[in-house]
Formats: sequence, C-alpha cells, structure tokens
Amino acid sequence: EADWRKKSQFGSLIKSTARTDMSADASFARIQDQRKSLPIFNERDALLRIINDNQVTIIVGETGSGKTTQITQYLLETGHGQFGIIGCTQPRRVAAVSVARRVADERRCELGSEVGYAIRFEDQTSKDTKIKYMTEGVLLRETLTDSLLNKYSVIMMDEAHERSVNTDVLFGLMRRILPKRRDLKFIVTSATMNADRFSQFFGNAPIYTIPGRTFPVDIFHTKQNVPDYVAAASLEAVRIHYNAGEENGDILVFLPGQEDIICCCDDIRKKLEQQPQEKKRDMLILPIYSLLPSEQQARIFDPAPLRKCIVATNIAETSLTVDGIKYVVDAGFCKLKVYNPRIGMDTLQVTPISKANALQRSGRAGRTGPGQCFRLYTEHTFECDLLENTVPEVQRTNLGHIVLLLKSLGISDILSFDFMDPPPSDNIINSLHQLWMMQALDNDGNLTKLGRKMVEFPLDPPLSKMICFSEELGCGSEIVTIVSMLSVPTVFYRPKDKEEEADTAREKFFTDKSDHLTLLTVYEEWMKHRCSRDWCNKNYIHFKAMERVKDIRSQLVEICQQAKVRLKSCHEDYPLIRKCICASYFVQAARMKGFNEYINIRTGVPCFVHPTSALNGLESMSDYLVYHELVLTSKEFMQCVTPVDGAWLAELGPMFFGIKESYDVRKKRRLEGKEDPTELPPPRSLEGTEPVGNMWS
Ligand code: ADP
Ligand code: MG
Repeated sequence: EADWRKKSQFGSLIKSTARTDMSADASFARIQDQRKSLPIFNERDALLRIINDNQVTIIVGETGSGKTTQITQYLLETGHGQFGIIGCTQPRRVAAVSVARRVADERRCELGSEVGYAIRFEDQTSKDTKIKYMTEGVLLRETLTDSLLNKYSVIMMDEAHERSVNTDVLFGLMRRILPKRRDLKFIVTSATMNADRFSQFFGNAPIYTIPGRTFPVDIFHTKQNVPDYVAAASLEAVRIHYNAGEENGDILVFLPGQEDIICCCDDIRKKLEQQPQEKKRDMLILPIYSLLPSEQQARIFDPAPLRKCIVATNIAETSLTVDGIKYVVDAGFCKLKVYNPRIGMDTLQVTPISKANALQRSGRAGRTGPGQCFRLYTEHTFECDLLENTVPEVQRTNLGHIVLLLKSLGISDILSFDFMDPPPSDNIINSLHQLWMMQALDNDGNLTKLGRKMVEFPLDPPLSKMICFSEELGCGSEIVTIVSMLSVPTVFYRPKDKEEEADTAREKFFTDKSDHLTLLTVYEEWMKHRCSRDWCNKNYIHFKAMERVKDIRSQLVEICQQAKVRLKSCHEDYPLIRKCICASYFVQAARMKGFNEYINIRTGVPCFVHPTSALNGLESMSDYLVYHELVLTSKEFMQCVTPVDGAWLAELGPMFFGIKESYDVRKKRRLEGKEDPTELPPPRSLEGTEPVGNMWS
C-alpha cells in the first residue's frame, strides 16, 4: 500500500507539473506572438545588417516599438553574445530591473542567468549572463577596472535622449574607447529627439528609424493654469473614468514626484468611494515611482477588469511602456536635479517640463488607438513658457563624483573632456574646488591618496570621505552603518492615520540629538533583535528597507577590505562619530541665528531644522551643526542633521573657517601694545572665510 501511495503521489506530482507546463507554454506562446507584433519585428534583418556594417549605429523609434526589449535579443540570436556580453544601459534603475525581468520572461530563463541586470548595490548577473541591463552609473564604474570594456561585445545605450550626466560622460569615454576596440559594436537608441546630434558626435554614424504606428491624440489645455495640480489631476482622472463608462481604455497621469503621486492616488480613491452606490465602478489605481518596491512596480503591467489608472513620474514617459493607455493627464512638471548657486549645492526641484516632454507624454495616449491628452496648463504656457528641450543634466548639476571618476581614469584636464554639451566651466571649477576642500585633490588638482581611496566607493564624495576618514578616528564600523542607512530612501514608516504612534516610536531612537546617530541606533537595535520583522513592525520601521541596508552594509564592508580601509568600532563614543561626520560635511555647516533658525556658514543662506529631526525643541538646539541635504519645500529644510563643536570646523576645515580670537585674548594683546587699540573685536565666533592659495580661485 505504501508503494502505491508513493506512486500515486508521484503520479499527481507529474500531473501537476504537466499542467503548469501547459499554462506556461500558453503564456510563452502568447509572449512570442506579442514579440512578433511589435513594429521592430519587421525591421529585424535590416537592423541587424546596419549594425553589422557599422561600428556605431543610432536607432530611433517611438516608445513601445520594441527597441529596449528586442534589439538585445536579436543580437544574441545572431551570435553577438559569443565573444562578450551584450550590455544595455538605462538612465533609470526601475527601467533596468523591469526590462530585464521582461526579457528573461520572453526567453523563458531565470532572471540572473542568461539575462540579468546590475544596479548600484544590486548585481543580478552570473557567469552565464549574455544580456545585461544596467544603469549608466554601473557601466561608468566598470570603466575604472576595465577601461576598454573588454567584457562586452556590444554596448547599447538606451534612452540617450534623457541626457543624464552619466550618458554624457559615457559618450565622451566611448569616443576614446571605440577606436581602440574595433570589434565593439556601439548602439545609441533614442525616442524621436535630436538623433542628428548623436550621429554627428559619433562621426556621422548612420541613423536607422523604426517606422512607428501611432494614432491621433486630441489635446486639451486648461483655460487657466491650475493652482493645485494634484487636486486637478485626481479630479480629471475620476471625470475621465466616469465619462468613459463601460468602454475600456486606461489612464496615465504624470506628476513630478513620489509625495504627489501617493497623495493623488489617495485622492482618486476617496473620490471614487464618495460616489453613490449605484454609480460605483471599479478602477485599479497604480502608482509608479523609482523608490516603489519592485513587486509593486511590476503591477502596472497587470490587466485590469475595466480600467486602470497609472499615476507616474516621467519614468512612464519613455522608459516603460504600458499597453492600452487611452487617456493621458499631464500636470506639466517634473523633478530635476538643479545646481543652486545660492546655496552652493544640488537640490531636487519641481520644474516645468519641456515641450519635448509634453509631446512624449501626449504620445502615450495614441499607441493602440486614438486617444486624448489633458494638459493641466494653458496653451499659452505650452507655446511660450516651456523650453524646447530640457537642459542636459551635465549643465546643471554638481559634477563632484564625475570629476573624481575622470581623474582616476587618468583624464586630468576635465575642462577639455569631450562633452557633447560642455558644462559651464564654473560648474567644473566649483566641483574641483569642493573636492580640493575635501582633500581628495591636491593643490595641483591631482588625486590625493585619500581621493584615490574615495573613488573605490560607489557613493557621493562626502559619504566616501566619511568612510575613509573614519579609519583615522577608529569609528569605521559605525560610520559604515550610518552611510548604509543613508543609502536607502527612509527606514521610518509613517502610515496615514497612525502618524502620532509612528512619531513616538521614532523618537525612542533619538540619540545624542543627532539624526545620523539615530539611524545608527535603529540599525544596532535591529541587530540586537536578530533582524526581526516583528520588531520592525512594532517600531514603525520598514523591514524591507532594513534588509537592504544590511545588504548594502556588507557590500561596503567588502569594498573597505579591497580599498584597505580598516574598520574599527568605537563602542558608542558618540562625540567621536559626530566629529567624523563633521569632517565630511563641513561644507554643509550651519550656525544658529535664532530659535530653530540657522544660516549656512559659508553662504549665509537661512535654513531650518526639519520638524522630524532629533534636534528639535528649545532645550536641544546647538550652536553649530552639519546636515546631509537641503530640501526645498515651504522653506529650506536641512535633512538629517548632527550637532557639532565649532572648534571641529576650524580644525577640520582650516582653509574654510577661522576662529576669531576671543575678546580677552585680544584685549590682553592690546594692553601689551601689540595691536591697534581702536579696533573693537567681536566676541569669539566662527566665520566662513574664502579659501586661500588654491589654483581655482
Ligand atoms: P521601446 O524600448 O521601443 O520603448 P520596449 O522594448 O520597452 O519598447 O517595449 C516593447 C513592448 O513590450 C511594449 O509595448 C510592451 O507591450 C511590452 N512590454 C515591455 N515590458 C513589459 C512588461 N514588463 N510586461 C509586459 N509587457 C511589457
Ligand atoms: Mg525603451
């Protein structure tokens, strides 16, 4: 009998696998049909021919024509993967992951085997990987160890029209690499913008255009610019949903950022709930933004019973294509990293989109049939206020990490690097200056020993400096934890309607009035509770985010070993850790001016402690502090602050700050007749001074 049972179990097992195989077969067949129906499918042979005949090819095609998912596969199918990896870069992490997952499905392989992806701190590739999707940043860092990119037989730079800093730097590097790697194929793909410039930059490379299939889109503008685009967008989405009735057709809403998107989704949900019972009609509401967990991101491709409404950042403009969109609602703004000369650093700012963006957005409505686009701004705004194209990122951001990278690639004269659109020389000089202040560059502009170590870390210069400097102070273990915590969005969970409980839970972790140390405490407590999920839930901490921190931490520890940075623990010597933080951020130091009111010591710009900070309340204010970043919302808020001792600033940034001698010292000297007695010295204070004796001033 036992034998029989075993057999029957076996039998049922076989049966069930057979069944799943069959449904897998059906979905595989469906996917293959879908592949053949893409506009690029008819161009396959012509495309392969032009790629074979040229080292560089520019490929232009409407979003959704199949460039990202198909070209890599065509190349693999025709043997291009034999002598190297087929690499494809994406400006955005979300796109790299999502597209790799899709292509793995299309090839029926596990993600990370034949098809894989790599983004910062997350490498899903193996020795079998033939098609690798990655962010541009990852490829850029690979040039540090493999300067001719010998691993690759093809590099396809996708979404080149985005013109991220990394696109532009890679372009410059590719111009140097290509003549030395005649066997390397280089492909640049772009939505239909500015392809001529790419061609010119790469020696008049041929441009291949994939014929598009698009349907007419009716465009509507508002009579006046709307005062609150989130409210207007949710209202519009609900209106479309009811007007369309039982007819299919999905909605895509473009908003600038995460907070707006979450808010808009809530708003739409509320408005739907308020409808009378008999009028209720279902709609899936799906947010998508870069920091959304990837399982949730994938849901935008799920079919909806009647209709879905995707609320997205400009990630849905060209990087991701969802079929079936019939209506687009465009708020007209996006978030851009902009170098702000007033405060001397980059800030993310909500900025009007360009005309090119607006056209791309409306185009999303006409892929599968005629569509409609509702712009929440006037026609006059579109015609007269929007720029033709967005200013390339390289011309508007701090180039610190890029300068460091180029220097370590041996490109010493950054000002004459091959930029397609050179950044303003002031930007470069400012970045060189900041690196010099951090002692990553010497007076001649060459990398110092510290600078060379800093390059090893895939981090912004202040954070890599923090790790390198911690060795000297002997608090590396703690600093690596803090840096890892800063490398994820936020670990604190603050659900709606539970804000107070969440805030109380967070306050329990406040340590030494410092937000950096608070992060350290959260991590160490979690470790003490053996990385428990329950503990996270109880304390309003994101478990997934903590797991990621742990993973990032172990990668950073590994890099420290390679870079020979020894990590020691200082066992809760908090002032020591604060001093190390101070050493890395002294450019971002502020002095108290009034209650909860600070000014940046160098620029004099007023800035405020964020209400969620550990450094809040009258009794805990500090004379001096440093901050991680400045966020512009209703005011200029410093996010993640740590109080520091004024004397540290003078000690650690002597080229920057001087301590004016105390009144007593000067009086004494005056009495001794060594100084002009008419001058009245101010009381002891720290002043920002202009740096002296450097080559850039
Ligand atoms: P392009 O790069 O030219 O914009 P893609 O290669 O990204 O086009 O997409 C081609 C088609 O593949 C899309 O129209 C869509 O139908 C399909 N597709 C891409 N990613 C996914 C996904 N994750 N799930 C389902 N379909 C997808
Ligand atoms: Mg694409």
